[in-house]
Amino acid sequence: MDPEAVPSPTRWLAAHGVSVPDELLQLERWWASAGRAVSEAVDRMGTPWLRMFDRFGERTDEVLYPPEHRALLVRGYRAGAVWHALEGEGLEATFRIGYVTSFFDPGAYCPYTVSLATALAVYKYAEPAVRERFLPLLLRRDDGVWQGATWMTESAGGSDLGAAVQTTAQPAGDRWRLQGEKFFASNVGAELALVAARRPGAPRTVRGLNLFLVPRWSSDGRLNYRVRRLKDKVGTRSVPTGEVELPDSEAYLLGRPEDGVYHVLEVLNVSRVANAVGSVALAQRALAEAVEFGRCRVAFGRPVLEHPLLRTQFQANLERVRAAFALAWYAVRLLEQVWREVPPYSPRYHTFRLVTHLAKFWTAEVAFQSARWAVDVYGGAGVLAEHGVERLIREALILPIWEGTPHRQVLDGLEVMVQKAAHEALLDELARADSRRAEALRQRIRAHLELPHELREAHADSLFAELASFTGAALSGQG
Ligand SMILES: Cc1cc2nc3c(=O)[nH]c(=O)nc-3n(C[C@H](O)[C@H](O)[C@H](O)COP(=O)(O)OP(=O)(O)OC[C@H]3O[C@@H](n4cnc5c(N)ncnc54)[C@H](O)[C@@H]3O)c2cc1C
Repeated sequence: MDPEAVPSPTRWLAAHGVSVPDELLQLERWWASAGRAVSEAVDRMGTPWLRMFDRFGERTDEVLYPPEHRALLVRGYRAGAVWHALEGEGLEATFRIGYVTSFFDPGAYCPYTVSLATALAVYKYAEPAVRERFLPLLLRRDDGVWQGATWMTESAGGSDLGAAVQTTAQPAGDRWRLQGEKFFASNVGAELALVAARRPGAPRTVRGLNLFLVPRWSSDGRLNYRVRRLKDKVGTRSVPTGEVELPDSEAYLLGRPEDGVYHVLEVLNVSRVANAVGSVALAQRALAEAVEFGRCRVAFGRPVLEHPLLRTQFQANLERVRAAFALAWYAVRLLEQVWREVPPYSPRYHTFRLVTHLAKFWTAEVAFQSARWAVDVYGGAGVLAEHGVERLIREALILPIWEGTPHRQVLDGLEVMVQKAAHEALLDELARADSRRAEALRQRIRAHLELPHELREAHADSLFAELASFTGAALSGQG
């Protein structure tokens, strides 16, 4: 087995046509030599600690990071995990950083993802004075960088946001006051959060939602949101996820009130692309771990990965991960093309939406399957914490859930096919790689979309999985 079959993340990126500047190589070297050990310690010890009161008994709700953890976090911001999008080489450069980070620690990529989504929303939709005040802080290249967060989900559920979001927004002069609670708030402690809430009289559907910017400190210097507690998670421990209270919190409305649902979805879609990138990086890491172990572990007279059964499985996994990478990076490049659009969107934007749902859905599945396979290759050692490969399964458990479950991706993907016929343009592109299969799939999708609503939903997942895997395979030249 050639150890170079699964190279380092930067070599993988380069082999797949992504440019790799020196800064990225340096980031990878740092992760391999120092960051990895910090990440392992964070995973073992759990998420950072929440200090709720200062020494005078005042609420402070501060998330305390050990210095090494804080240094790990800041390193990605300095490298351009956010500023590259608006002041550097563009969005793709931020996702390159995300890929390298996630190879070593998918949880550590979450803060960059949500900070990027915050920066893009502020850039596009904040009033000029609000943008000028906050955006430069998110784009800083030093230790004083501000972080963002994206908080939609409440205790009643994250899938049906239209029904579940109870947080209300009341106008207060040139700003707003938010009251409510958020149940899953990742990167809690961030200086700025994007929060979904409902204006007075807004319908109790997803169309009644608006996106607000909530600073951690109000303009008169008071704590503007409270952290009730941090969640004890099985994975992604590098990012603190908490429960947040909004007790009359000062907030700024982003964008035109009637377009609120689109603003919320734009934020989620940025995170979904990032999740796809992070999922493939985890899958690649799983294969790398399996190769490293499987080349040394001997059974029946040869390294276990040299046995025909495991060799065939490895090849199949590698091809699946390559296809998943192609799908994820296609979503990155489409996002780069369309992210400046505002509603009403172009047909290209709808292709992006469909590809993003396919990528979020499929890559998270590939990440989990790859992690499971890697544990299989390790045998009994795979379930021992000291080998570290079981962590990949714990991390991979969360990738399908946050930013919308697999069901959500299938149903939202179905919606963009029904309402915008987004599959037609996608299949036109894929037909260049494999026209016979693209046409066969086109006919099946058209027939499926004619089904009555209930039946269409009930049988959508296998068709969606097929479209996702075909898209990845065709894009990676395996069509
Ligand atoms: C570690 C972690 C961090 C998170 N961080 C954040 C964050 O920072 N910000 C944020 O807003 N949210 C965050 N979330 C929440 C996450 O987005 C939600 O968990 C997710 O959207 C699903 O919502 P839910 O857990 O309430 O499940 P529910 O919405 O209650 O759904 C339960 C099940 O029903 C299925 N289901 C629901 N509706 C349908 C349907 N119509 N058809 C078929 N199946 C359906 C779902 O797919 C799921 O399998 C985080 C979650 C985790 C685990």
